[in-house]
Amino acid sequence: MQGVQSLLELSPDALPAPDAQPYRRAQLAAWLYQRGALSWEAMTNLPRAWRAELGARYRLSPFVRLERFVSADASVRYLLTLPDGKQTEAVYMPYRGRKTLCVSSMVGCPAGCAFCATGALGFGRNLSRAEILGQLLVVAQAEGIAPREIRNVVLMGMGEALLNYDNALGAIRTMIHPEGLDMSPRRITLSTVGLPGRIRRLAAERLPLVLAVSLHAPDEKTRREIIPTAHAHAIEEIIAALHDWQAAGGRRVTIEYTMLAGVNDALWQAEALVALLRGLVVHVNLIPFNPWGASPFRSSSRAQIARFERVLTGAGLSVSVRFSRGRDTGGACGQLALSGEGALAS
Ligand code: SF4
Repeated sequence: MQGVQSLLELSPDALPAPDAQPYRRAQLAAWLYQRGALSWEAMTNLPRAWRAELGARYRLSPFVRLERFVSADASVRYLLTLPDGKQTEAVYMPYRGRKTLCVSSMVGCPAGCAFCATGALGFGRNLSRAEILGQLLVVAQAEGIAPREIRNVVLMGMGEALLNYDNALGAIRTMIHPEGLDMSPRRITLSTVGLPGRIRRLAAERLPLVLAVSLHAPDEKTRREIIPTAHAHAIEEIIAALHDWQAAGGRRVTIEYTMLAGVNDALWQAEALVALLRGLVVHVNLIPFNPWGASPFRSSSRAQIARFERVLTGAGLSVSVRFSRGRDTGGACGQLALSGEGALAS
């Protein structure tokens, strides 16, 4: 039984039910989002005839194949194949009692960041709402946990979520829906390369999400070298949008800064970053670069990262140095797709 339309496209309160019975609709929502059932056969308390009808119309899992790669640091990377043969990925991180999933919003990414393996793949396509949300359900099932046990989601996998706005927001709405995954929006992080118009649109949603901005350089010249699409929006415009985000009630913003030796790790750049972020409530993540195959970049040394960090903390900024997870399963985002069977067709 495998219909064409994905059931996960529908909001939990818009799920079908015989004669629109709220009780049956709630049962179906519970099978999906509380028990993580991804087969009609598993939904044993639903009438057999209704299950057959649902199966003829709707599909459950949006993926045709899952490959699982376990890293020495306990993170688990999933390479997910879609019905059209394209691939995307998710990374499960069960650390210190917190179960976090990093999900993708696209196949590949149009931002083309020079240090990023996903950027090198180019843009494949947007993921649908079901394909974004489905990553939580299939990973939970593969890990043998209930979907609601994943309490933290970061949209930091493949893709620029704000360029796939409606589908990313639709998936988030089911994540936070009480009959969906019932997550706190405060535990959902949305990462963006910095699109001022979309940041303001997101602010107007009044959802207390965590916004993470991939800044990677405080000066225009360096940023444009690292992020070729950055010329579309000046850094000042992005910073102005972040001020608007916080004025509209948006919470602390995370600034992502990948440390690239000799490119963006000079102390004058640390000082420029301090000046740029003045007046914003931010947390800065310094990310040692995770080398991958064809990349021309090297990571800054630990000593240089420490010096850079001291400039920021000395100015009162909240900073952490984040070593990326899943190094030995493929490194930075996109690498698994590159190294998996059949590289991404983008
Ligand atoms: Fe896209 Fe993020 Fe990679 Fe840049 S770093 S190319 S925004 S996935």
